[in-house]
Amino acid sequence: NEQLYVNAEKLSIAGQLAAGVAHEIRNPLTSLKGFMQLLATGRIQDQQYLPLMRSELSRIESTVTELLMLSKPQALELRRNNLRELLSECTAAVGAQAKAQRVRIQHRFDPAPAWVLGVAVQLKQAFINVMKNAVEAMPDGGLLLIELKRGNSDTHLVTVADNGSGMPEEQLAKLGQPFYSTKDKGTGLGLLVTYKIIDNHDGKIAIDSVLGGGTTLRFTLPAISQPDDSDS
Ligand code: ADP
Ligand code: MG
Repeated sequence: NEQLYVNAEKLSIAGQLAAGVAHEIRNPLTSLKGFMQLLATGRIQDQQYLPLMRSELSRIESTVTELLMLSKPQALELRRNNLRELLSECTAAVGAQAKAQRVRIQHRFDPAPAWVLGVAVQLKQAFINVMKNAVEAMPDGGLLLIELKRGNSDTHLVTVADNGSGMPEEQLAKLGQPFYSTKDKGTGLGLLVTYKIIDNHDGKIAIDSVLGGGTTLRFTLPAISQPDDSDS
């Protein structure tokens, strides 16, 4: 039950990424090549392996998409974002998967408006990644709690909590390492992307996890004043 503060800069991302990329992309490529050879020699029936091939291809696609997210020095256009709306859009995005796994989503939003400066698609990506992890940690159902409240006058606090599998300490220590995943179809890039995005927005993340008890991520983001009508 250890708190872990993560600073994306400390991860020396570039170096670790280079080594991991080749591996992560080559594995599904090798497997695809194998299927192609079997198809070419007529040793397997036409349609049989298509789903497997499709799944290997989408693994490559996810890996490349997430890598791009990390590497692109995007021309950031900062806008005012309403965190309540933004978080609701994120929970909607994971809604179908949550429902399929009998995960209940509960919002506990402070009624006060909560504005942050940032890039909406990136902030959404950051929260969706951790909400997906939360849902994936509850294969037999559970509760996904999304909380939004004021930290102090300068910050907003967002909490994403699940009562799923949780993690042992040695696993907590590995979070944020590129390609670290305990999932069959995981890319091990989701959290890294989240760290990077939150860091770009001058935010912080703290993680708490109890093996068998669940995981809580706490985000702190700088607050800005509410835009007036002429602003939007
Ligand atoms: P991926 O989801 O593709 O495996 P992530 O970077 O999103 O990659 O997460 C890395 C690993 O961290 C996961 O494989 C999982 O072991 C662990 N993890 C992340 N979030 C949670 C959570 N809410 N509960 C339990 N384990 C988690
Ligand atoms: Mg993930």
